[in-house]
Amino acid sequence: MRKNYLMTPGPTPLPPQVTEAMSRPIIHHRTPQFQTILKEAGEGLKYVFQTKNDVFILASSGTGAMEAAVVNLLSAGDVAITVEGGKFGERWTEICKSYGIIPEVINVEWGKAVEPAEIAGRLKANPKIKAVFTTQCETSTGVTNDIRAIGQVVKDTGAVLVVDAISSLGAIDLKSDDWDVDVVVSGSQKGLMLPPGLGLVSVSAKAFNMANDSKCPKYYFDLKKAKKALEKTDTPFTPAISLVIALNESLRMMKTDGLENVFSRHRKMAEAARAAVKALGLTLFAPSAGSDVVTAVNVPAGIDGEKLVKTMRDTYGITMAGGQAELKGKVFRIAHMGFIEEFDIIAGISCLEKVLAQMGYKFNVGSGVKAAEEVFLK
Ligand SMILES: *Cc1c(COP(=O)(O)O)cnc(C)c1O
Repeated sequence: MRKNYLMTPGPTPLPPQVTEAMSRPIIHHRTPQFQTILKEAGEGLKYVFQTKNDVFILASSGTGAMEAAVVNLLSAGDVAITVEGGKFGERWTEICKSYGIIPEVINVEWGKAVEPAEIAGRLKANPKIKAVFTTQCETSTGVTNDIRAIGQVVKDTGAVLVVDAISSLGAIDLKSDDWDVDVVVSGSQKGLMLPPGLGLVSVSAKAFNMANDSKCPKYYFDLKKAKKALEKTDTPFTPAISLVIALNESLRMMKTDGLENVFSRHRKMAEAARAAVKALGLTLFAPSAGSDVVTAVNVPAGIDGEKLVKTMRDTYGITMAGGQAELKGKVFRIAHMGFIEEFDIIAGISCLEKVLAQMGYKFNVGSGVKAAEEVFLK
């Protein structure tokens, strides 16, 4: 017998209410019954996205929502800023290139946040830039970008601001409307505590205006079709019915807790994780811009990072994430997003200590758990 703990930055563990909702008998989507659910989900999403804009629910992973943002806003030959500072920032560049959009790449050192002034400078130098694609939490490095400050520099230009909040939505604050974010994209399997399969995208009036001129090819991800359907509380194609029903459950949970409390819980989990790894003598990969979504930790000298993650998972059932791309084997990532509470963190840190000790790393056994407990006792 083994008990499994998922501490990865997507997918994340499911609350029992969500699992139960997923197992209900299927209903038909062109019915008043489903319309009631769709309507409630739409309102709940506006609450979590902190927006008055429509939020569209797509049957795709988060990347589908990213692609939808690109193909609905732009045309081949357009220029758009893409902020790269990790694997997911690079994805914006790759999607743009796939559609003949010319990316103006801002290269940020992995582990650092983008300087909003750099974005301002590029926009000023080239007024033809139509969009700024960035990431709130760069999940591959555990960095949070300052979206509020970026909103300030984009809002009075002709460009729209598009934010990948796939890992951060429902984990850290993102005031879409107050911070002048035109398009926010997210996915179901991270902060929203659902299985993978839903892409979510909110679209401002400024962005919809731009969409009228967009010539990128699109069919399934045509948001004008989605908007027309939504006006009749409908979807253009068969929605992921069970996932939408489950979404309603997770949104209800978040509404009951209140967004402020959801964010402060994440802050506390992150604080405990950071305190624990530091107490173990480990160092953070992104000490200057760490996120409350996921913590990337440098693998100490002499320890095989991939083996560390594999042993925690295969021997003890605690799944953390390794590093991606150039960080493979160099960092491991502790996700503290979604349905995670303090005793999950304690279990995770305890397992980390056990495997580090077995691998010959020298530290005071119990010091990580102690540091985490001290944060929770505060
Ligand atoms: C997980 C993640 C993605 C990719 O989402 P998929 O659901 O795998 O398509 C993109 N961006 C960020 C920041 C993520 O964390």
